[in-house]
Amino acid sequence: MLKRLNTWLFSDVDGALFLLRRLLAENARAYAWRYALAFVMMGIVAACTAASAWIMKDLINQVFLERDGRMVWVVAGFVLVIFTLKGAAAYGQLVILGQIGNAIVASTQSRLFRAITRQDLGFFEGSGIGDLGTRLSHNASAARAALDLVVTALGRDLLTVIALVGVMIAQDPLMSLIALVIMPPAILMISGLVRRVRRVAKTQFVSMTRILSVAQQAISGIRVVKAFAVEDRLRREMDAAVADVETQANKMTRLSARTSPVMETLGGIAIALVILYGGYAVIELGSDPGAFFAFITALLLAYDPARRLARLNVNLSGHVVGVRLMYEILDRPPATSEEDGGEQLKLSGGHVRFENVHFRYGDAPALEGLDFEARPGEVTALVGPSGAGKSTVFALLERFYDPTSGRITIDGQDLKGASVSALRSQIALVSQDTFLFDLSVRENIAIGRPGASEDEIRQAAREANADSFIEALEAGYDTRVGEGGNRLSGGQRQRVAIARAILRDAPLLLLDEATSALDSESEAKIQTALSQLMKGRTTLVIAHRLATVREASQIVVMDKGQVLEAGTHAALFAKGGLYKRLCDLQFTDSDPVPDYERGPAEGN
Ligand code: ADP
Repeated sequence: MLKRLNTWLFSDVDGALFLLRRLLAENARAYAWRYALAFVMMGIVAACTAASAWIMKDLINQVFLERDGRMVWVVAGFVLVIFTLKGAAAYGQLVILGQIGNAIVASTQSRLFRAITRQDLGFFEGSGIGDLGTRLSHNASAARAALDLVVTALGRDLLTVIALVGVMIAQDPLMSLIALVIMPPAILMISGLVRRVRRVAKTQFVSMTRILSVAQQAISGIRVVKAFAVEDRLRREMDAAVADVETQANKMTRLSARTSPVMETLGGIAIALVILYGGYAVIELGSDPGAFFAFITALLLAYDPARRLARLNVNLSGHVVGVRLMYEILDRPPATSEEDGGEQLKLSGGHVRFENVHFRYGDAPALEGLDFEARPGEVTALVGPSGAGKSTVFALLERFYDPTSGRITIDGQDLKGASVSALRSQIALVSQDTFLFDLSVRENIAIGRPGASEDEIRQAAREANADSFIEALEAGYDTRVGEGGNRLSGGQRQRVAIARAILRDAPLLLLDEATSALDSESEAKIQTALSQLMKGRTTLVIAHRLATVREASQIVVMDKGQVLEAGTHAALFAKGGLYKRLCDLQFTDSDPVPDYERGPAEGN
């Protein structure tokens, strides 16, 4: 019977029971004391409810039948006391559970965020940002709601039903049996609904994710959206997603409402049966009418919590989906390359070597046997058409990914065995999509080396040619740069990023030159800042500027994930290969920002 009740309450389609057990186990320990207190409160509520049914017997027998005037006062006083007590206990239980719930949401969100940031780049490319956003907010609340449901069901409702059934049995055991005949059909009907509710909940969540992802795209790409007038398309997509969610929500409403008519009818049958039998017993057999009334009251009072218990599984189903998705993230092992513990790199000069490196993004090959070296203290320029694999070289050097085969070494040490954080602390990255945090200019530079002194920060800014414009800002180094740095011009952002890299003072510099043209004054300032930065470091640069390419010690010409040729500008130019063709096509002195893109130029 207990087992049957268990499968009914938590019929373990797709492992829901397991998930809930885990959720309970994890949180019960953390909040044990408060849960215990909440259970005491719920016990008081249940006892008070039972007492209010019990008192009916005296009310009917002593007051109405015996006409005992004193008992009126006793019963009225008793009712007042138990209801006040019940109110106070209910208040305590609500507050305690509410606080536990808030704590669970807070800690779950932190845990989810931590788990998300431990993942590698592949994870973020695979899941839309909308999806992660939903998970962060929706899944944490799902965990809370599921726990609240289980705890109140097991605590308040189950205790109340037990106490009331106790009253019923004490008053009339036979009649109790009659009332309970409705249990089996109720169980059967409810458990059929559960599976369907769960299916709908899952599709609903997927559609909700679509809404968020459309919204996210519209917001983050609003300039492009407006410029190319794709609002209509986005609106249509949004309408479709919203309509989908509405359909699912309606289905859900219908399904979960379906428990009501079933339970009402069955409840009616039980109460009618009890009245028939009880009336017969009182009228024909001369039974105690007080006991009969106490019984009926207990039955009526038990009806609501019993109905909630019956619906528990249906109501839980919706939340279980959220809990499952939450654990999906929490249980994801951290990306192997993000795990720390590898060997500390000991860099002397920063000699980078790629040896027959292959790499693919999923099924798409990006590098196919790449071989080249970047010598210590020199500038190595990577050039080649778009899609050649230049950015991938950077990503592998930072160990955002590991090569599929082949070896990458720095000063003879294989990156595969190196500690990721130690490796990244040896690398400074300046990329064309300079990202600034919504912090002060000072803090944005200091990210390069946490704990740097004010003097060091200013010195870095001076070397990056950024000091004078920063001083001219309204609050100098304390000026907040806005989200993504949007209060600074493109050229200014670049120089802040360069100052950050100078401050980092890492032996290895990865430079992704801007493709978009800046005005020539900014251009010149950035150029001097960059030469300052490159001094004495091993520099790998994805080069778009003729000046950079010409001055590089070595130019590596890449295509389709392989090195076609390598050498100095003069040597390659004389050789007459792809580099020469690129030069003839695009490197003219009147066009200092060559464009290697094969397709039509975009964005200028
Ligand atoms: P480049 O920087 O020279 O333009 P990339 O290194 O960005 O070239 O790209 C090399 C190849 O890998 C291209 O075919 C590109 O489409 C593919 N690629 C780059 N990044 C990803 C990614 N995150 N997921 C899947 N494919 C990618």
